[in-house]
Amino acid sequence: MKIFKFGGASVKDAQGVQNVARIIQSYNQNDILVVISAMGKTTNALEQVVHHCFHNTGMANQALQTVFDYHNEILNNLFGEDNLVGVSDIKNLYLELECFVDNPHLQEDYDFLYDQIIGYGEMMATKIVSNYLLSQKIANQWIDARNFILTDSRHRDARVQWKETETVIKNRLLPIAKKNLVITQGFIGKGFSGETTTLGREGSDYSAAIFGSVMGAESITIWKDVAGVMNADPKKFNNAVLIPELTYNDAIELAYYGASVIHPKTIQPLQANGIPLYVKSFINPEDNGTKVSADSSTISVPCKIHKDQQLLLEISTRDFTFIAEDHLKQIFQALSENKVRCNLMQNSAIYFRCVIDNKENRHEPLIKSLENLGLLVQLHTGMELLSIYHPQGSFDRLSDVGSKEIVLQQNMGNSIHYLIRS
Ligand code: ASP
Ligand code: MG
Repeated sequence: MKIFKFGGASVKDAQGVQNVARIIQSYNQNDILVVISAMGKTTNALEQVVHHCFHNTGMANQALQTVFDYHNEILNNLFGEDNLVGVSDIKNLYLELECFVDNPHLQEDYDFLYDQIIGYGEMMATKIVSNYLLSQKIANQWIDARNFILTDSRHRDARVQWKETETVIKNRLLPIAKKNLVITQGFIGKGFSGETTTLGREGSDYSAAIFGSVMGAESITIWKDVAGVMNADPKKFNNAVLIPELTYNDAIELAYYGASVIHPKTIQPLQANGIPLYVKSFINPEDNGTKVSADSSTISVPCKIHKDQQLLLEISTRDFTFIAEDHLKQIFQALSENKVRCNLMQNSAIYFRCVIDNKENRHEPLIKSLENLGLLVQLHTGMELLSIYHPQGSFDRLSDVGSKEIVLQQNMGNSIHYLIRS
């Protein structure tokens, strides 16, 4: 059995959906499980809905309409204005969202609310693709991933309950997936109370890896708008080159530092089960792309990873005494409780510095917790992070950062990291 994952860019419009159908059709469809994420930038648009809902701005319905208009256009282009195929399913999802948004959500847990709304992007995308395939006489079974990816209730960053997930996938999904084309969602799961959870932004790759590793798939293929894993994002850097082969370890390092091509948690379950991962272009599906496996060769070119929208937190004691071990323990506890990941950290005598992504409702509660511990926190915005990974460890600062102002720098042997003012 094979697992395919199609990201938002591959289904951003009607032509994208048609292209996905063509790719699926070129394979033996009877034992492929296809994971699909929300179309185009839908997840970002739904984040706006969450924002308006949580803050009760009165604009949630307007933000929803943007999401509906976008999907309606794709529906019309795929099925024509008066073709009823599949429209009823989608309209029901719209209705569910509208009813949900109509209730006041002020004071409710932001992360819980987020997960209840955001997963609709994947629901709509999979319904549209599944119905389009049916309209093209490509038999398939649409499946709700929440019945199979069982997680804890740590919203917006849920952790998989492996034992339960394995049991239900093996007992219930595997028999279906062995004989059918299955269309399902990435990114979403089910928490302890049956509520929707999410695995963290861009988590659909991870979903594909979970399905694949539990079902013992022969391979996982992530279809992207780039040729495969590149040594840099071709949209940001000239001269980016394709890396044809990559070991699991190199892939983990790259994903950890933020190479957006693979979600960081994706590799581990594949490595544990020896399942190769292919990253291929949905624009040129015949090309080889990148293979990630145990027996691949290691990277020989430097890889550049750029992350914008970074925040620097400078944490110190109020009386500027040393930051000692017990402070560090408290700081890490606060980071973990607030689900904030440090992209880079450094400590000196009186400061602990950490670089984090700028996400809504993430750093504010963290800063509050740290202040409640009696610590002083300075927040610096407008930063970007450049990480260069090179297993042979040769770096050239001038060609990497030029004359930009470096706020923080860290050399870790096989990688170097610069925090730069934007
Ligand atoms: N749609 C989700 C996101 O954009 C999950 C994914 O794309 O993997 O974060
Ligand atoms: Mg997405």
